[in-house]
Amino acid sequence: MFRAMQVVLRGEGRRAAAAGLTGHCGYSTASSSQRLAGKVAVITGAASGIGKATAAEFVRNGAKVVLADVQDDLGRALAAELGADSASYTRCDVTDEAQVAAVVDLAVARHGKLDIMLNNAGIVGSLARPELGALDLADFDAVMAINTRGVMAGVKHATRVMAPRRAGSIICTASIAGVLGQLTPHPYSVSKFAVVGLVRAVAGELARSGVRVNAISPNYILTPLVKRILQEWYPEASGEEHRRIVESDINEMEGVVLEVEDIAKAALYLASDDSKYVNGHNLVVDGGFTVGKAPNMPAPAQ
Ligand code: NAP
Repeated sequence: MFRAMQVVLRGEGRRAAAAGLTGHCGYSTASSSQRLAGKVAVITGAASGIGKATAAEFVRNGAKVVLADVQDDLGRALAAELGADSASYTRCDVTDEAQVAAVVDLAVARHGKLDIMLNNAGIVGSLARPELGALDLADFDAVMAINTRGVMAGVKHATRVMAPRRAGSIICTASIAGVLGQLTPHPYSVSKFAVVGLVRAVAGELARSGVRVNAISPNYILTPLVKRILQEWYPEASGEEHRRIVESDINEMEGVVLEVEDIAKAALYLASDDSKYVNGHNLVVDGGFTVGKAPNMPAPAQ
């Protein structure tokens, strides 16, 4: 009970502080600078959550963006919202290499080049968390097909058009589940460790082609993907309780809450020339969650 109260108070304090911070600093996704002026981007998984916020941030900064997803209605609606001059939607299932190749070729055909490829589409897979001895390898294959093989396909086809121009920035959405084990079901975690691994594996070759590749590893954010996880794991809990789990219980930072716009800004940095010498990096955006672990021992007596 006491612990539950602490959690509630912690959560309210954080939200209030975050609201205050927003008011005082005028934090806004609006930007007067055009850090991606003249650049062309493809974003997979662009219709929802992190991909959607990043598409908006890229457009605000002057980029032309091709939105790729399997949620056609949401993708088309977002393209309309962002404006036909700046954004267009095309269906692309990243498990199908031909569709990944096609979206890259579409960007080049429509805009003459590709500067930025954000490989962001992802799923969490089964939430059953069975004992390792009962792991469902079909689920493992399905998660790897999207989260890792889909990213590899994006890296491959972006490189195909970027390397001849000796320029480009490839960004891959990984996760804190690819920094620490046991945070999520194993297939998802393995798939995200592999994303960080593939970024490191190819960064040297890409550097010699003038192309950069980096990963972003977010902490939990209450996107549709995470809402689905919480609804399955805590079916009795309300939406507000789900929000508290993400924004308070898992959150390391006092006074602020991680939002999709924060990941969009991390992607903006890696996409822009501000990061011209950053290559093979994993930009972990987790408020310090993965850099420490409290020792499993009693508190010192004093
Ligand atoms: P989201 O809101 O579910 O957005 C992901 C989008 O990708 C959805 O529109 C999804 O469609 C789409 N997608 C799924 N499979 C696809 C495929 N085969 N081809 C193309 N698009 C596909 O999730 P999100 O939270 O923004 O996640 C974006 C990325 O961030 C993922 O890689 C995720 O693993 C990663 N991430 C998220 C968090 C977090 O806390 N939210 C933390 C760390 C990392 P469906 O809805 O039909 O599946």
